[in-house]
Amino acid sequence: MLLEQYGGCQISTGDILRKAIAEQTALGKEAGEYVKRGALVPDNLIVNLVAERLKEPDCEHGFILDGFPRTIPQAESLDRILNKSGQNLNRVLSVQVPKNVIIERLAGRRTCRSCGALAHVIFDPPKRNGICDRCGGELYQREDDREATVAHRLEVYETQTAPLIDYYRQRGVLTEIDGVGNIEEIRRRIGKSLGDAAK
Ligand code: AMP
Repeated sequence: MLLEQYGGCQISTGDILRKAIAEQTALGKEAGEYVKRGALVPDNLIVNLVAERLKEPDCEHGFILDGFPRTIPQAESLDRILNKSGQNLNRVLSVQVPKNVIIERLAGRRTCRSCGALAHVIFDPPKRNGICDRCGGELYQREDDREATVAHRLEVYETQTAPLIDYYRQRGVLTEIDGVGNIEEIRRRIGKSLGDAAK
């Protein structure tokens, strides 16, 4: 939705990793075990893949980073990469959702094996059971969306990722978004908070 509104490229590190794992590339082989366990993939692997992706032509006029950075060292590396290319972050969004709602969303989330589109069995059901509305691919439940792994991912978030909220608040680029509500409501809140910032 943000891409449609603002253009640029979207870099979702989780999507890139899942594709690499499915295709059994060198990156996929190295990252697979971490992703399966809900642990973070080592910083150097992630930083290199984002740095390479940012060099591609579709990112020249802006980018949306999703799922990155997830640690303070990743954020510091990103600062260095952007400094070199004379770019900067307009805005960092922290979408805030209570744990019980996160668990409910992840438990029912389904992901398309072919195009990565998302659905939810209750909140955003596909027209045909198990089939992606966008491309007709197979919808599956990510192994790391199962309950035990979700609990671990939440711990990882608290210890390794939550410190980024202060990191970006101190730099004056943080916007906190209430992430409780339906997709359209949250899209509107994000659009409103970005205003001209993303242009
Ligand atoms: P996501 O699709 O963003 O939930 O990411 C799924 C999984 O990919 C995470 O649980 C991590 O194992 C890995 N991953 C994605 N982004 C990162 C990142 N920035 N740093 C480390 N690991 C990541």
